[in-house]
Amino acid sequence: MYLKEVKMNFIQPCTADSTRIRFKAKFSSDISEILPYINTVVKDAIYNKKIQSLTIRKEFRIITIYGMNLAVSKAVNESEAYEIMDLVKDLVNNTYKRKDEIEPLYEMREKPSTLEVYKYLPKLNCKKCGEATCLAFASKILSGMQTIKKCRPIYEETNKENLDKVENMLQVMGYE
Ligand code: SF4
Repeated sequence: MYLKEVKMNFIQPCTADSTRIRFKAKFSSDISEILPYINTVVKDAIYNKKIQSLTIRKEFRIITIYGMNLAVSKAVNESEAYEIMDLVKDLVNNTYKRKDEIEPLYEMREKPSTLEVYKYLPKLNCKKCGEATCLAFASKILSGMQTIKKCRPIYEETNKENLDKVENMLQVMGYE
């Protein structure tokens, strides 16, 4: 078997929606090489070559597969978390089995613009993230040089809805 084991690392409530859970799991081997093949098989997957990640949306759930890890947010409960782990393991192994018949796809199907990320930021230009403006921060996030966690104002209660939206957008692209 190509991928032998998927092991749970941790489970915790989602940042913006505490009624749902997020979790991380570790793979027993590096599966990076198979990600472009899964990108072909799953028609609406988002593959990010730069950080070697592939994201699949299952209704409201966001499932991101990295070379050595799995990160999932908005899962319903712990038993669903284990079902998702099995599902990913089967997807990886079945794709690997059919690898020779599949043309790998290295392109990212969709990518939000700087302005799309910017619209959910607090727009305070307070520089707490280390950038001169919120727009510069949005641009750095998309190039993988910044993380949303550096913007403390967005974690305030009044920005909860925007945090949820921007986190979803970034998680879909494989950024944590
Ligand atoms: S910390 Fe947030 S609000 Fe302040 S400049 Fe950076 S992105 Fe804008």
